[in-house]
Amino acid sequence: MNIMEIFDTMEYGPAPEAANPGLAWIKEHQPFGLFINNKWVKPAGKQYIESINPSTGKPLARVAAASSADVDRAVAAARAAFEMWGKTPGHVRARYMYAIARHIQKHSRLLAVLESLDNGKPIRETRDIDIPLVARHFYYNAGWAQLMEQEMVGFEPVGVVGQIIPWNFPLLMLAWKIAPALAMGNTIVLKPARYTSLTALKFAEIMQEVGLPPGVVNILTGEASQVGEALVRHPDVNKIAFTGSTDVGRSIRRATAGSGKKISLELGGKSPFIVFDDADLDSVVEGVVDAIWFNQGQVCCAGSRLLMQENIADRLIAKLRERMEHLRIGDPLDKAVDIGAIVSPGQLKEIQRLVNQGVEEGAQMWQPSWACPTEGYFFPPTLFTNVSPATTIAQVEIFGPVLVAMTFRTPDEAVALANNTRYGLAASVWSENINLALDIAPKIKAGSVWVNCTNLFDASSGFGGYRESGFGREGGKEGLYEYAQPAWKTKAAQEFLIAIESTSANGAKSAHEDGSDEQSLAGEDNYQYGDDGTNGYHPVLPAIDRTPKMFIGGKQVRPDSGYSRDVYDARGRVIGQVGEGNRKDIRNAVEAAHAAGGWAIGTTHNRAQILYYIAENLSAREDEFARRVALQTGCTRADAANEVQVAISRLFSYAAWTDKYEGVVHRPPLRGAVLALPEAIGVIGIACPDEYPLLGFISLVAPAIAMGNTVVVIPSPQSPLSATDCYQVLETSDLPAGVVNIVTGDRDTLSQVLADHDDVDSMWYFGPLEGCQRVELASAGNMKRTWVSYGHPRAWLETVQGEGQEFLRESTQVKNIWIPYGE
Ligand code: NDP
Repeated sequence: MNIMEIFDTMEYGPAPEAANPGLAWIKEHQPFGLFINNKWVKPAGKQYIESINPSTGKPLARVAAASSADVDRAVAAARAAFEMWGKTPGHVRARYMYAIARHIQKHSRLLAVLESLDNGKPIRETRDIDIPLVARHFYYNAGWAQLMEQEMVGFEPVGVVGQIIPWNFPLLMLAWKIAPALAMGNTIVLKPARYTSLTALKFAEIMQEVGLPPGVVNILTGEASQVGEALVRHPDVNKIAFTGSTDVGRSIRRATAGSGKKISLELGGKSPFIVFDDADLDSVVEGVVDAIWFNQGQVCCAGSRLLMQENIADRLIAKLRERMEHLRIGDPLDKAVDIGAIVSPGQLKEIQRLVNQGVEEGAQMWQPSWACPTEGYFFPPTLFTNVSPATTIAQVEIFGPVLVAMTFRTPDEAVALANNTRYGLAASVWSENINLALDIAPKIKAGSVWVNCTNLFDASSGFGGYRESGFGREGGKEGLYEYAQPAWKTKAAQEFLIAIESTSANGAKSAHEDGSDEQSLAGEDNYQYGDDGTNGYHPVLPAIDRTPKMFIGGKQVRPDSGYSRDVYDARGRVIGQVGEGNRKDIRNAVEAAHAAGGWAIGTTHNRAQILYYIAENLSAREDEFARRVALQTGCTRADAANEVQVAISRLFSYAAWTDKYEGVVHRPPLRGAVLALPEAIGVIGIACPDEYPLLGFISLVAPAIAMGNTVVVIPSPQSPLSATDCYQVLETSDLPAGVVNIVTGDRDTLSQVLADHDDVDSMWYFGPLEGCQRVELASAGNMKRTWVSYGHPRAWLETVQGEGQEFLRESTQVKNIWIPYGE
């Protein structure tokens, strides 16, 4: 083509990036080994797998296929390294991380080329987005390593962390996981996706260059069934961090249930892209390109559902088609290419299958007139209109360049459509009316909301899902808590294990056998049976029988079963009955809790006032509550009075926190701000501990409702009367009906129903290990969050264990609202 012709057509010429440096590096290193203890080692099983270049379909490299024996080796190396790395001063860790960031920048071009060769994504994206963000994550988290001692007082690393990452952003996902883990002092065994291991291997080389101590980061390439599963089940791994499909996330939840492993799951999505009629449509079109054709749509937070206000739909679709006609697909190393290759033939087939299904279900498909390259795995940008919200393509994550468009008329309808998904990862809202956009953003159930922008990421701003998009956050300060835990927890867990071992060695004794409670009850300070304010004053008249009912939707209701269960004092004498709750009571309670959802959108000032009011009403009946605690537990009068006092103080604490746990504003490198808002999770099921019947109940319910959740509570099964006594306190404290619902009965039976329930968003369980395991297993159904005690006792009276930000974090999920500004 001569210059005149170029001027006439304005066609792009090819602008290829040289593949040679990447290919030379591969040639020099292959077959690649496993990276354990800072050394390249051969896989125990001597097996290798091929990495394919998706844009040609040809083999690119041979990488080692690790087996479970290699996982054992790598975990042992990480454990040994943890002894030292976990105690290394923050400043030293910061220096290593800073060096890693520097080296990533020094090798940025090679990393970008390798990523494009291995994954098929355009060099424009790897060079300008993936790799700079990788460096940014190490710089940002180097800062947290430096500040950990001051900013996270009392926290320590979790230990050995297993990290499993997907193929869509291979090096970026590695950075999201390794950087915060290193900053907090953990050691790591990471498994890249089998299709895309190369940049992780180059990263391993960088670890050697910067002289990171051996065993701190270990990288095992290979198959999920060999490496991934062995890592998940390994007894010496303290935490699993996973990004990938919801199905695998669910299987990891099940496999780790009851093991005490911390987990964070970043899963799939079907994110809405909402366009109101006053939006700047030309910007919207570019937004859509970034939302669904960025990385060939293989993005967990891709804006794959276009929701358009009806009156602009035709205009927007016409503009989109025009733009799609000009998108360029082809060699990922060509700098002028918009869309690269799909990662594998399997993924390509799955996209085609879902597209066919969309057509069969009656939606109208449109693709540009140009053809895809015939070599390699390419799929054209695809637009579906006439889509019904219930169809497969509107509900299932396609993970390809496929956009489904629907219309709405009112803002309420837009929100309803946006939330009509089991996922909740991200959303974009487009409107020139900032009031409207900021009104819509909090109503969408998603971890990130982008206002007039899309697919923006930064290390300072947390990322993660609501609902079946997983739990846990990556990025921001909140992401650090995935890799750190309060020091007392590690100590308490160790002491608990020692205590269990010595009990089983000496033969377990019941309280009655060793006479301990006998002695305590006989003490001078104790309340005697019958001294509960109802007996003794009228020796002739029998006391009026008081059988606490359930507390559901603000009303005291009888148990559906019509059965009651006896409640005993510490000496084993019956002191009352409570209702025997069943599945139906829980169902009604969950319904009531949902109906009270408005609690979350009331003002924080109002919620604080109500918590103070509950404290005030509890204080008015302090003596009666103390007697009840003493009667149930056999503790001394002074201890019972102290428990009530601490419960009142705790209510004050959460009343105080209600309008102070407000989130932060991030300033990522863009002209704009990101509001990181802690939001209520929704309906939380709470199974209370046996010990401290009043304080355990208040310590869990108060933070949950302070943050705007509504709760269904199962009180201490041994001593439920302190919770049921609270009905009247709650009823007289202006607490709206349904915010707190209390169902008495068998803790495990009722917890199982709550954990199975699809309309419960989080489940807390403070009880025996087996119960914790059951709750974690059942929660995998709708991927609800869980918070369980693994059978470890907690010092509820102590502020450091019994209250504070740990409780507030469990009560909230952070939504990041991105608001760019400027004309
Ligand atoms: P997977 O969830 O299967 O894979 C993600 C990672 O987990 C990979 O490293 C994989 O290893 C590993 N893995 C798979 N199974 C297990 C297991 N049982 N135990 C431990 N680790 C395991 O995603 P796919 O690659 O199969 O993609 C399928 C679909 O998942 C996509 O179409 C998309 O919908 C979704 N997905 C979502 C992502 C996200 O970012 N949210 C990312 C990738 C996929 P290996 O590579 O060896 O199989």
